[in-house]
Order: sequence, then C-alpha cells, then structure tokens
Amino acid sequence: MKTLRFILGDQLSQKVSALRGADPATDIVLIVEVQAEAVSVRHHKKKIAFILASMRAFAETLRGQGFTVDYVKMDDPANTGSFDGELDRAITRHQPNALCLTRASEWRVLEMQRHWAETLDLQVLLLEDDRFLCDEAQFRAWAAGRKSFVMEHFYRNMRRRTGLLMEGDQPAGGRWNFDHDNRKPAKPDLFMQLPHRCPPSVQTQEVIELVSTRFAGHFGDLEPFWFATSAREAEIARDHFLANNLPRFGETQDAMLEGQLFLNHAVMSLYLNVGLLEPLDLCRRAELEWQAGRAPLAAVEGFIRQIIGWREYVRGIYWLHAPDYKGFNHLEAKRPLPALYWTGQTKMACMQAAIGQTKREAYAHHIQRLMVTGNFALLAGLDPHEVHEWYLSVYADAFEWVEVPNTIGMALYADGGIMASKPYAASGAYIHKMSDYCERCAYDPSVKSGPRACPFNPLYWDFIGRNEGKLGSNPRMGPVYATWRKMGQSRREEIGADSQRILEALDNGQL
Ligand code: FAD
Ligand code: SF4
Repeated sequence: MKTLRFILGDQLSQKVSALRGADPATDIVLIVEVQAEAVSVRHHKKKIAFILASMRAFAETLRGQGFTVDYVKMDDPANTGSFDGELDRAITRHQPNALCLTRASEWRVLEMQRHWAETLDLQVLLLEDDRFLCDEAQFRAWAAGRKSFVMEHFYRNMRRRTGLLMEGDQPAGGRWNFDHDNRKPAKPDLFMQLPHRCPPSVQTQEVIELVSTRFAGHFGDLEPFWFATSAREAEIARDHFLANNLPRFGETQDAMLEGQLFLNHAVMSLYLNVGLLEPLDLCRRAELEWQAGRAPLAAVEGFIRQIIGWREYVRGIYWLHAPDYKGFNHLEAKRPLPALYWTGQTKMACMQAAIGQTKREAYAHHIQRLMVTGNFALLAGLDPHEVHEWYLSVYADAFEWVEVPNTIGMALYADGGIMASKPYAASGAYIHKMSDYCERCAYDPSVKSGPRACPFNPLYWDFIGRNEGKLGSNPRMGPVYATWRKMGQSRREEIGADSQRILEALDNGQL
C-alpha cells in the first residue's frame, strides 16, 4: 500500500508517529514550505530561517535513509502557498492509497487535518503526537474534578510516571522541588558559557538568502545565524549545555544581566519544539549528569521540572481550552500594542534590553518574557490578543500550544486564574533586585512618582486599583489590597496622574 506521510515543520523527529512503520520502498514523505504558515503572524526572520533550514536538513536525513521525500520549496513556481493546495497537488502526483499524519500541535492546523480526514477520498490515519509525555486524554483525566490546576501536583505525577529522579516511590534527595535553593540575583562577573553556536551549512545559507528577500519586512535580525538545524547539531548544543551550564542551572534562573543574554539557560526550547531533540531523552541525560556526580540534584531537578512539568503542563492547558484560550481577556485590557515592542526604542533600560535581544536573537529567557515585557503589558493593560501575536511572532521557539498559555495565562492573567493563582505583577523593585538594568536607566526604581519614577511603579498601583473588583478578594493578593485600601486619596490621585502621563508618553513614543 502506498502511503503519503505528510510531516509538518515542527514534526522533524525520526520517531514521529507519522513515520512509524514507513516503508521506503513504497511510501512517500511529503514536506512543504508554504507562505501562508510563514505569514499567519509576521514571524521573526530568524525563526522562519530556523524552521525552513531544519525542514530541509530533515529531508536530507530521510533521503540518506532511503526514503523518497517529496519536498516542495517555497520558491517553487508551482507552490500554491497553502497546506490544502500542496496536499492536493501531492495526491494528484502520487495517487496514494492512504495519508498518514501526526496530530498538529496547533488547533487551527488540527482542524485542517480533521477536514482532510472527512473529505479526502482515501484512507486517512491521524495519529497522536507521542513525542509528548502526557497526551490530551491523560491531561484531561488529571484535570477532571480539580478546582485549580497546580503545576506542582501535575509535575509530581509526571515524576512518578517517568521514574525520573525517583528512588522507589520517593523523590531523590527526599524533596520534589529544590526551587527554594534557586532564584538568586546574578553578578555581572559570574562566568557563564555561551550556548553552542553552529556555523550555517550551505543549505542554511540558501535559506537565509531566501528569507532575506522574501520576508525582508518582517521583524528581527537574520544574521548572525547560529542555531542548530539538524538533530546532529542540536545534540552537540545539548551536550555543550549539559557539560557547561546544567551544573549551575536554576541558581540564577530569575536573574537578568545586560551582558549575559543566556545566563545558564539551556536555549533548547526551539530544538525540542520542532523535534530536533526529544524531551524524555534530554531529561534522562540530565539525570545521568547527577548520577555521575557532575551536576547537583537541585540543578538537575530544576531543569527536569521545566520540561516534564511546565512544558507538558502548558500543553495540557492549551488543549483543555483550545480554541477559546487565546481569546480570553479576563481583565478587559484594551490598549493597543505600542510601537516600542517592535522598535525597542524607549528610555526604559529593561524593555530596551529585552526587546533589543529579542530582535537580535529571536530569544529572551523566561524572566525577561514574564517579568519585563509581560509584566509591562499586564500593568499597562495591553490587549492580550495583540500581545499574544507579538510573542508568537518574535521567538524562535514560539508555537501556539506553548506560547498561548504562557502569554494569556501566566503573563497576562487573561484566563482569570487557570494557570496562575495571582497575576505576576511587579513594580520596579523586582526588576532592580533581579537585574543590572536599572543602573543605566533614565528612570529610577526607588522613585515612586513624578517624571523620574520608574514607570513600573505608578503603573503597578494603577493596575491594582483599576482591577480591585476582579482581584480584590483573591486571598493571595490580600496584603497588596490591604496596602491599597490604606492609601490616602491624594496618593491615589498622584498614582492616577502619573499613570496617565506614562501611558500618554507610551502612545506618543516618548516613554
Ligand atoms: P530554560 O530556562 O533553559 O528551560 C529549559 C526548558 O524547559 C526549555 O527549553 C523549555 O522547553 C522548558 N520550559 C521552561 N519554562 C517553560 C514554560 N513556562 N513553558 C513551557 N516550557 C518551559 N516557551 C516556548 O517554548 N515557546 C514559547 O513560545 C514561549 N512563550 C512564552 C511566552 C511568555 C510570555 C512566557 C512568560 C514564557 C514563554 N515560554 C515559551 C516559556 C519559556 O520562557 C521558554 O520555554 C524558555 O525561555 C526557553 O528558553 P530555554 O530553552 O533557555 O529555557
Ligand atoms: Fe526598568 Fe524601571 Fe529599572 Fe528602568 S528603573 S530598568 S524602567 S525597572
């Protein structure tokens, strides 16, 4: 039986279910580059180049294993520019008996796949994406009947299921979570190894040229381009991280330093999300580092928690609420996304650093995303959908299943508390404590009002005041609202006037 195996750009794994049992003698692997997906939001140029180059490298690997790969390049004059069009053309070309697919990671594309299953005149196999460790049904079973979805409970479940860092049915070291030992501010003189940089292959260079002409108007710098684009290269980057950064992972997890863009973060999300690395394999290798005495338990536990905990958990939340989740706007925030999110032009040093780095690298680490750009969007009342589209566009690792819960849920509290028991809202004091950004800022984190005040300060209290109806009875916000309620009228008016001035400056590009 001749089967057409249609692989998407984030399914670049040898073990992906759509390739399981494939027969090189009869089957055809279809991989297509389509314009519609590159512009569904205006993705960062480096992100488009990463995905296209990885798709081309994956096709080469499969060909090397004897598969017939029908690869449609974006600049092929016959390319229709859409999945529907390219699938139609491939069926006409190959006349297969069956179509085999792995479930798409995004609701919109899954709907397309379901439509093909219903309408195409051939057998369609739509298989689970079992590269994830917790499937949709398992997550639904875990979530059923729970009032709140506490990630820590989910994570313990996943530790038991995978056996990672377990001694019988007890956690290694007697504790499930060593987060308490982490979260220190970092000093600029701390030596940290940079992520491994891969020189672009000839094929990647061709993609870079294609992207530079075809997507010239998109956000972001295309070069220098140093991401791995094949499984082999991603494994080298992985081993570099395990040997050099894992031992100190977590310690400075929440820190932000102007001159250290990556600290000891892994920079592995992009490789995991397109399939160049496998999550369970990566975690097992991290566990081995602890077992061999090369990395402390606190660091390894923290790393494994991000992957079998947070990564799997946000995916579960996405599918539990798709497709509605990205439309949530619990706090009724309406301000349009200001231009500075694209230009990085602002006197706020922290925003300038996080956005500037995002533009150059298509990467910012978690605390920059959550507590700088996310926190600012939350406090300024930016429209969650516009903020979501920004995050989806600008990061090389951004795919809806992981970006939407992190943005709509964790950063913006637009889901009304499904992901987080209270908003991640903070004034300038937090950023000052965790970073060195404030040292060169035009604003002062210790000034509470007036033109020198750090904008996060008045905006924080303005956020608290204007959302009292929705957040005032949240027990975790109790001390904050106690302070707010004790605040005199004149201080409240000062906060209101300062916030008004800041938001006007934001709209006029003067902040
Ligand atoms: P590390 O800090 O080294 O963590 C190791 C791994 O753990 C990561 O590679 C990632 O796979 C996983 N991980 C850690 N935190 C999370 C999390 N909160 N959710 C899911 N996985 C996690 N992550 C994405 O992969 N894609 C996104 O589009 C994305 N958008 C985000 C948007 C916002 C507003 C926020 C606050 C976070 C977002 N994250 C996203 C989560 C997190 O910021 C990134 O996974 C992380 O910064 C990737 O860098 P790293 O590989 O160096 O991670
Ligand atoms: Fe950011 Fe405020 Fe610090 Fe400036 S003073 S870097 S705006 S936190």
